[in-house]
Order: sequence, then structure tokens, then C-alpha cells
Amino acid sequence: MNCNLCNSPLTDKIYESGSTRSLTSLCTTYAGITEVYFCHGCGHVQSLEIDNIAGYYDHDYDILVTSEEEDQIYEVINGENIYRTEHQVETLLNKVTLPQDAKILDYGCAKSSTMNVLTTMGITFQPYLFDVSDRYIPFWKNFLSEEHWAIYSIPNEWDNQFNAVTSFFSLEHMAQPQNALREIHRVLIPSGILYGIIPNVFTNIADLIVVDHVNHFTPVSLDYMLRSQGFDVVEIDENAHKGALVFVAKKIPGHSIVAAMPTLSEINAAYKKICGISVYWKDANGKVSTYEQAITGKKQIAIYGAGFYGTFILTSLAQPEKIAYIIDQNPFLQGKELNGKPIVSPANLPETVDTVFVGLNPTHARKLMVEIAEFRNRDLTFFYL
Ligand SMILES: [Zn+2]
Repeated sequence: MNCNLCNSPLTDKIYESGSTRSLTSLCTTYAGITEVYFCHGCGHVQSLEIDNIAGYYDHDYDILVTSEEEDQIYEVINGENIYRTEHQVETLLNKVTLPQDAKILDYGCAKSSTMNVLTTMGITFQPYLFDVSDRYIPFWKNFLSEEHWAIYSIPNEWDNQFNAVTSFFSLEHMAQPQNALREIHRVLIPSGILYGIIPNVFTNIADLIVVDHVNHFTPVSLDYMLRSQGFDVVEIDENAHKGALVFVAKKIPGHSIVAAMPTLSEINAAYKKICGISVYWKDANGKVSTYEQAITGKKQIAIYGAGFYGTFILTSLAQPEKIAYIIDQNPFLQGKELNGKPIVSPANLPETVDTVFVGLNPTHARKLMVEIAEFRNRDLTFFYL
């Protein structure tokens, strides 16, 4: 296997899952081993792609398709949910200024909730959409007509048309992100803007073991990819969106650029960080088992978090049948089930539960649990990953 970004051979395997029960970004299990490699050429981190990746995104990848409004929680402030779309719209408007009536293409758009919300904000622009599945058409139809979207391939008439291309959490999924960048370069006008968000594996460490994320970008590998595909990197922001890298790049017309590779010290710094994250995940199953064996109480056990970390805990337990509830603040998940376990709000957690496995990003987990008002007067024991 070669690096998606610089084509160096990938020989340094930094992580391999202990079992064939891997987890996808949709928190479903995938029967296969997760293998992750580090590229010593450009600092990229890359996983072995899953079988039939095109079919997976065309037919199986149903992100947030239950309803128009369904969304993920970005953060909870004073008990109020801030949704991901809301935050993405705000960040985009802070970072990019576009002319009146600008043409914007949302590349790898899924429902394109961001464009949908933008059309309701009194901004005059022409939105266009592209994805590799037709399953989102029912959502697109609600705010656009058919000539504003393309599926599977981008028509030649769209070349040199767009003032901006947006890409919200899509490049990490692609087996050939460099091809996507070439296509984006093609459709932008000279000096057109590419604006994107991708997971930051250094701050959202779950990204390393998500089996359907082929690419785990580091700031240096993202910078290299953009430069090598004919973009001037305006900004890579590690703080604007928690756990993610937000980037702004400008199309340089023509395409004969040979990009300089990251320096050895940049590569070594990235390598050190990624090896630390790999060790964390190698130990995580053992941590869950140790705590599971130590639980002696007769009361019930719950997992906090119906997302990736919560699912990881659930699938790591020797006796998952002992979990009575999953707790989550997202009203779109409450009332549903995760692997047969009912999802409840913190307020509706029955008094019979006295132990909670916390399935949240370990960087913020302790702080978030302290902020849950409903838990303050309860005698709960928490286990942190
Ligand atoms: Zn590379």
C-alpha cells in the first residue's frame, strides 16, 4: 500500500485491532481488522480501506437520514444543545467572505444541512451539491432543483465555475482524496476558495480506529496535500471546531507545482503523537475489562454516550448484557436503541443505575460529566476510558 498523498510505500504499521470486530463512523460493527499506517514521507496516517468502499457509501452509509432535522450535538452549553450544523455554518461565515450571488459547491455533501441552513439566512448565493450516492435526493429536493446537484461524477460544464467549494467531513472517507482535490481544483475559478473540515486525529483520537476513515490527516499531511494539488494554504485552524481541522485554501491556476515535503522534525513530531494515540487504543480494551471485573454492586450499569466511544465500550465488554441503558443528551437519539439498549436522557436515567462507563472523548469527558446537572445529587460511580 502506498500513501494516498505522497505515494511513499507505507511500511510502518502503527495499529492493528485485536479482533475482527471493527467500528465504523456510524457506530456499526464491521467484520474486518483495522490496520493503520504512518507515512514517514508526508506525515499522513492511513488505514487499509474497507472492502467495496464505493458500495458502502452508495448503499450502507446512511448518516443522519432519519429526518431533515436530525443532527449531532457539537457541544452542550449551560444545558443547551449546540448542534454541529449550527456551529459549521457559524465557522464558515467567520472564515470566508464571498461576493454576492457566489456559486458554492458542497462536495461530498450527504444531506448538506449546512447549505440548507445557509439558504435560510438571507445570503444571496447559488448552492450546488455533489455526492457519491443518490440516497440524499429527498433532502436536496426540499431546497434545490435538480440542475443544482450531481451524483457519482461532476459534469464538465461545472469546470471553472465556482467561487468556493466546501467539504464538511468527507475527505477522511475517500480512498483517493487526491482525485477529489484535482476535481475541486478543476471546478473552482482562479483564486477560488476551498473550505473544509476534517477530523483532527490528534484531538479526536477515536478517528485513528474508525475503520471507514481511510485518511487520518495530521496538520502537516493536510498542508502537504493541499499544496501538492495546486492550492495556496491560507489557514489550517486547529481550534475553530473541537476535534477537527478547519482549513481555507486558494486555487493556484495551472497545475505544475512540486510541493516541498514536510521537514524531518515535523514528521517526527507527528509520529511521536500518533504512536501515543496508538498505545492508548491498544490498552483501551484492557482498561474496560479490568473495570468490568471490578464491578461488584448489585445495581444496574449504564454507558454515557451513544456515539463512537460509547459503542467502543459496549463492544469491549465481556458481558454487554449487563448494560441496562445508554445515556445521551441528543434528543434525536433518545427513545432509540444502541445494540438493543434503550437510549435515555440524563434526567430519565432510572435510580436503579449506580455505575456509568463514560463513553466520551477522554480530553473533555471529566469536565462534561461535572456539568450534567441531573447527576449532581446522585450517587453514581463513573469509569473513564
Ligand atoms: Zn505520504
